[in-house]
Amino acid sequence: MSAISLSDSVVLITGGARGIGAATAKCLVNSGAKVVIADVLDDEGKALAASLGEKSSYCHLDVTQVSQWQSVVAHCLATFGKINGLFNNAGIASFNSIETETPDGFERVMSINLLGVFLGIQAVIEPMKQTGGGVIINMSSTAGLQGYAGLSAYVASKWGVRGLTKAVALDLAPYGIRVLSIHPGPIRTPMTAQMPEAAVAAQPIARFGEPDEVAAMVKFMMAEASFSTGSEFVVDGGAVTGQVLALK
Ligand code: NAP
Repeated sequence: MSAISLSDSVVLITGGARGIGAATAKCLVNSGAKVVIADVLDDEGKALAASLGEKSSYCHLDVTQVSQWQSVVAHCLATFGKINGLFNNAGIASFNSIETETPDGFERVMSINLLGVFLGIQAVIEPMKQTGGGVIINMSSTAGLQGYAGLSAYVASKWGVRGLTKAVALDLAPYGIRVLSIHPGPIRTPMTAQMPEAAVAAQPIARFGEPDEVAAMVKFMMAEASFSTGSEFVVDGGAVTGQVLALK
C-alpha cells in the first residue's frame, strides 16, 4: 500500500464542476495528474475540463445512480486507461431543524452524501485492483466529527461517511487501496454563500477556508499519506479544537 505518483495517475472527482471539487481538479492537473470531472452541472463541468486542457475530461454523473457510475468508470478507462484515485466529493446540505426537516429531504441528503459515496467505492474497486491499488478519499466534514444545529440530515450523512470509510479501509486493505475521509470546516463555496462571517468569528483561524486549501489537503492525502488508511484529515481553521473566547 503506498501513495500514488500524481504524474502517472488518473483521478475521478465527483461534484467536480465547482467549489471544492473544481479547485481540486485544478490542483491535481497542475501537479501532473489526469482528472475526470464528474457532476450533474454539465455546462460548468465541460467548461472547466476544457480550460484544464487535454489532461482533463468531463462526464455527467448523478452519484445516486448505479448505471451512471458504470458509465463514468467506462469513460475514465476509455479516455485515460485506468483509475488510481477517486475523490467522492459531491454533496448537498439541507438547512432545516429536526422539527422542519422532511423524510424526503432527509432521504435526499443521505442518498447523495452517503449512498453516493458507497456506490462510488463499489464502482472503482475492480479498476483499482487491476492497477494494483489506489486511493479513495471520501468527503465528510467537521459535521462528521461533531453536531450542528439545523443540519440534522447533513450531520447524519457526514458521520455515516466517516464510519463507512473505516469499514471499507479494512475491506480494501488487501488490495492496496487506501480509504480516507476529509473533514473541512466552513469553506467559501456556493454551498456556504448564505453563511455570515460571524459564523467563523470564534474559530482559532477566524475566517472561511478557501477551496484551494482543501485541494492541497486532498493532494497530500493522495500523493504523500502512504502510511494512512481509515484516517480522518481535518482542514477547519481549528474549528473542532474549540472556540477562542475569553472566560471573563
Ligand atoms: P458546491 O459548490 O455546491 O459543489 C458541490 C457539487 O456537487 C455541485 O456542483 C453540485 O451540483 C454537485 N452535486 C450535487 N448533487 C450531485 C449528485 N447527485 N451527483 C453529482 N454531483 C452532485 O459545494 P462544496 O462546498 O464545494 O461542497 C463539496 C463537498 O464538500 C460536499 O460534499 C460538502 O458537503 C463538503 N463540504 C463542504 C464544506 C463547505 O463549507 N463548503 C465544508 C465541509 C464539507 P448542484 O449545484 O446541482 O447541487
